[in-house]
Amino acid sequence: MKVPLKMWSIDVAREQPVTRLNLANLCRLSLESGYNAIGLYLEHRFQYDFLPKNPFSDLLSADDIKKAEKEFPEIQIIPMINVLGHTEGFLRMEGYQSLSEEPFKGLQACPSQPGSAQLAKRIIDSVASAFHSELIHIGGDETAALGVCPQCSAKVADFEKGPDCDGKAKLYSDYHNPLLEYVKSLGRTPAIWGDMLLEHPQSLASVPKETVVFDWQYFESPLKTSTVLLEAGLRVVTCPTIHAYNASWLHLDQSQSNVSAHIEVSRQIKTEGICLTTWEPGLMGMMETWIPAILAFGKQISGEKRKVDDEYIAIDQGEWLTLMKQIPEAAPSFAYSGTRSSVKCRFLLYSNPFLLWLRNKDLIEQHGETARQLLLQAETSTTHPVYRATSAWPRLAIEFCQHANAASLHYANSNLGQCQNELQVCRQTFEALERMTTIQHQGLMGSEADTWRCRNARSHIEKVMKNIRDFGDGSLGYRPSFEHLSHPKFVPHDQGAWWLVNSWANE
Ligand SMILES: [Zn+2]
Repeated sequence: MKVPLKMWSIDVAREQPVTRLNLANLCRLSLESGYNAIGLYLEHRFQYDFLPKNPFSDLLSADDIKKAEKEFPEIQIIPMINVLGHTEGFLRMEGYQSLSEEPFKGLQACPSQPGSAQLAKRIIDSVASAFHSELIHIGGDETAALGVCPQCSAKVADFEKGPDCDGKAKLYSDYHNPLLEYVKSLGRTPAIWGDMLLEHPQSLASVPKETVVFDWQYFESPLKTSTVLLEAGLRVVTCPTIHAYNASWLHLDQSQSNVSAHIEVSRQIKTEGICLTTWEPGLMGMMETWIPAILAFGKQISGEKRKVDDEYIAIDQGEWLTLMKQIPEAAPSFAYSGTRSSVKCRFLLYSNPFLLWLRNKDLIEQHGETARQLLLQAETSTTHPVYRATSAWPRLAIEFCQHANAASLHYANSNLGQCQNELQVCRQTFEALERMTTIQHQGLMGSEADTWRCRNARSHIEKVMKNIRDFGDGSLGYRPSFEHLSHPKFVPHDQGAWWLVNSWANE
């Protein structure tokens, strides 16, 4: 392996089409910025040779990889798969659901079922034949559901009869170590994420020694954790992140701090390199606007003193950047946090955008209006369609809340006609958003699921308008509250929203 590894990883598992052309562009830019490797975080999003071939698919294929490898021999293109946790894309597919640790829940396969390891080996075989990279990264992160199913639970209990045995550590190791060995048997170097090894230190001793552990620490220095891994005799790559999944765009200053800490520690304790991770460009993530930051960080990883802002200024997005950097401070809903952006989740992911109006009240107050004005300025400061869309979608989210709020006030006052007018504007919001998702999908990257999320939201708003028409006048003998009437689970005559009373009933 070329040491130090200077790598960044792209999350293509969130419905992104990394076309061959885009992959070539990304390789070219990466090379110019000092990277010597790109990781493709695939999960289920690859034309695996054991799955039916779809001629209409926008997924990368073995041919695409071979062409990029030939054109860019200096860049190692590393497949990053997952074999237990984060197999949800397989588990929600007909024929694979029985491998799930919990029925229609979570993201983990069951390590006790022989079919899980069989699937893992097919995935490994498929990427081993498609990619020539020395490293094959098998994932292994976030297996929080270890020991949940009856079979695994009994195994863990049985293991723990031994002296001081962490049963979950053994369950994890018994599943992953043979797969790491399997990668070695193919003449490749296995890699795995470090989080579960660190959470279950008893698993450290048995990891095959040539394994490269990717230690991801997005909120603190990796000094402590990477030292633990090195002292266990393992090879280590430290992994900062671009803080985008927890932002409407991205938190640039926090990303810079995280990257700087990893560069420093990597040099201090001599790890084998750095992998800058990027996650979740779906939910209007607008990956194209992250690229200048990714390039600046690549230069920093290579030892250059390059400021992130300068990359944006260099492509005439300096004014846009200055305005967008003010958004997290403008309204609490956009503030830096450790979890996925609540605006993205409530507006786009949960099939009910009225949740954003219900829960993120700052957006209907002055904070929201301040953020909206800044976003509008940012939008008009640039002509680049993806940069414009990056500012436009959170602006539309705020405007949706403002109009949903006006609708709720008219509803409270029984002004049903004006209520419908406001809901009509809410509906149009998702028409505009749908057009943006198409722009993004045709651009560098973008989620096709986002287009359908917009369509679903629009039809939900139409359903809400019908509910207002049918039941808003009190024809049920009571007037359901606006939040009840606007919920996808609203049922006429279920006055107490019984599905809401017990959390276990809300599956
Ligand atoms: Zn199980």
